[in-house]
Amino acid sequence: MVRSIEVTAVLGLGGARSHNVHWTGRIEISLDCFVCRRNGRTTEVQHGDEEGSCSGDGRPGWIARHPAPVRVSAFDSTDLEGSGESGRTVLRAVVDQWWAPFHDAKRDEPALALTARPWVRLHLGYLCPEPLGAGTFSTQTNLGRPHTVGCAQCGEPIATDHETPRIRLLT
Ligand SMILES: [Zn+2]
Ligand SMILES: [Zn+2]
Repeated sequence: MVRSIEVTAVLGLGGARSHNVHWTGRIEISLDCFVCRRNGRTTEVQHGDEEGSCSGDGRPGWIARHPAPVRVSAFDSTDLEGSGESGRTVLRAVVDQWWAPFHDAKRDEPALALTARPWVRLHLGYLCPEPLGAGTFSTQTNLGRPHTVGCAQCGEPIATDHETPRIRLLT
């Protein structure tokens, strides 16, 4: 059955000069995976791709990284204008996963449609105006907050991370 998991995130946009901060569509999310029969696997998925990639379990005798029946079915970002430090960028994404009930092959726990300890990492890109160049950063569930992201090229603050991304099961 298809399960849909909604991820929402907000970042403050800072700095005197615009760095064109944008969500790249690359998402890493922890899911319970019926293919490798493991719970809480880090699953990578890119908006626009027809499949994702489950990290599996790298230890001998277990299923290693494998294609995962996961896709991004919605990806909407909105930039809210604001003066000075009050501008924000808001992301709402929906990750669809083909899920079936199973029992974790290593730990004594049943799989859940939304994994027991949800975690997500969302990737962003930016463009530094001077010197011209592209950079990347990410925001994730387990991060000290508030946290200011600086441009790797000019050092200017470009984003402020003060809210933990939210994860919820839609269906
Ligand atoms: Zn898997
Ligand atoms: Zn810069």
